[in-house]
Amino acid sequence: IQATFIPLLGEKRDINGGVIVLTDITELRKLETVRNDFVANVSHELRTPLTSILGYLDTLIESDIEDQQTREKFLSIIKEETNRLSLLITDLLNLSKIESQSFELSPGDFVKTLQKVYNLLEKNAQLKDIEVNMEVEENPPQVYMVKEQIEQVLINLIDNAIKYSPAGEEINIRVEKKADKLYFSIADNGIGIPQEDQARIFERFYRVDKARSRSLGGTGIGLSIVRNIIKQHGSEIKVESEEGKGSIFTFYLNIVKE
Ligand code: ADP
Repeated sequence: IQATFIPLLGEKRDINGGVIVLTDITELRKLETVRNDFVANVSHELRTPLTSILGYLDTLIESDIEDQQTREKFLSIIKEETNRLSLLITDLLNLSKIESQSFELSPGDFVKTLQKVYNLLEKNAQLKDIEVNMEVEENPPQVYMVKEQIEQVLINLIDNAIKYSPAGEEINIRVEKKADKLYFSIADNGIGIPQEDQARIFERFYRVDKARSRSLGGTGIGLSIVRNIIKQHGSEIKVESEEGKGSIFTFYLNIVKE
């Protein structure tokens, strides 16, 4: 609680009363902490690849590395880390755009969007010999959505399901109409998420296993983008998962009434 005293002056400019304003600044403090944490996290995430890039560049510049193979190895690490920085910045800009703007939902064809995204990611699945089964509502109704954002959500969820599944596993996607909502779910038989991490995976930069996510090209931002977008659609993203068995992510969109 923050207290502010505002004196009330009498005719002779003497203080003859006052008002005390009490403000509950708990929420404000919380917001401040979240913002400080975010800045600290971003700085850390950006510094890690930068430190590595600078280190390798210094070595290349300062020491005479004759061996061509070593030089090439260093250069390819520098390229990899630069790509990572670029991906991180793209993700951050996306997230900040979604958080700061409000969007107009309009009627759209969810299944068509899903098909488009699937075509985009099919190769990734094939590379790991993963079969993606789709069980989709016949004559699906239109839903309220922002097409580009729903594309982003589907990319992130399908990409994760592929990333965190071992080769040869199956992924099951389902689109189902229930009352005035269209439900989407994606189930994988991958590594799963420990119970204690399930509530936190939608936070920015939260990763169950940093090293694993990093080696798979993850930034820890994908699911926070998903949560934000789905919230702006008046819905909620949910996860059910068992470690070592797999995960199911679900959300719904509101159907446009005829
Ligand atoms: P990342 O870029 O690390 O994949 P996300 O925000 O997309 O970041 O996901 C956050 C974390 O949630 C991941 O690092 C991973 O630990 C976990 N996760 C997300 N999707 C799955 C999944 N389908 N199976 C297992 N773990 C997952």
